[in-house]
Amino acid sequence: MTSQSEHIILISPVGDLSAELIEAIAGEIKRVFGFSTETESVLQDLAFALDQNRNQYHSTLILDQLAAKSPGRAIRVIAIAQVDLFIPILTHVYGEAQLGGTACIVSTYRLNKGRSGMNISPKYIGRIVKEAIHELGHTFKLRHCPEHTCIMHYCRNEEDVDRKSDQLCRYCKVMLEDEIKRMKVF
Ligand SMILES: [Zn+2]
Ligand SMILES: [Zn+2]
Repeated sequence: MTSQSEHIILISPVGDLSAELIEAIAGEIKRVFGFSTETESVLQDLAFALDQNRNQYHSTLILDQLAAKSPGRAIRVIAIAQVDLFIPILTHVYGEAQLGGTACIVSTYRLNKGRSGMNISPKYIGRIVKEAIHELGHTFKLRHCPEHTCIMHYCRNEEDVDRKSDQLCRYCKVMLEDEIKRMKVF
């Protein structure tokens, strides 16, 4: 049981998602950031973010809504979406985060090759989990890292995602520890 006062990171699935994927993300959040998670969908209808011309969803708009709907006990919220996300300057994104903010999002769409989020092979779960941790890292003020194996490395394609490890490099790890201390949560 989690008490109301305990700080948690909220996982907010959009639509039905594989329990295996949610569990994998929850486990990695605990390992990398040290926070427990709860899973509760706070945002289901993303129609407001749909760009009719691109037939894609503008992730920045979704982040604003997520942050607004996130319960107080959640220090961070990560949405797991299944639609194709974009920001205006890019053709698509795997996810987006508010740098040093509350909300981030990752989508299974590109990393699971457009298939339903209920049907994900272990290889794709690994990719999606890495990008989820990457986006959460941004909410803890981590920026893109030049180290190719660091989970904060910016990935242009799936090969990049597969090449990087599931770990923060030593530099990013220190930055994260400093930020969590500064939050005075522990
Ligand atoms: Zn990034
Ligand atoms: Zn790094």
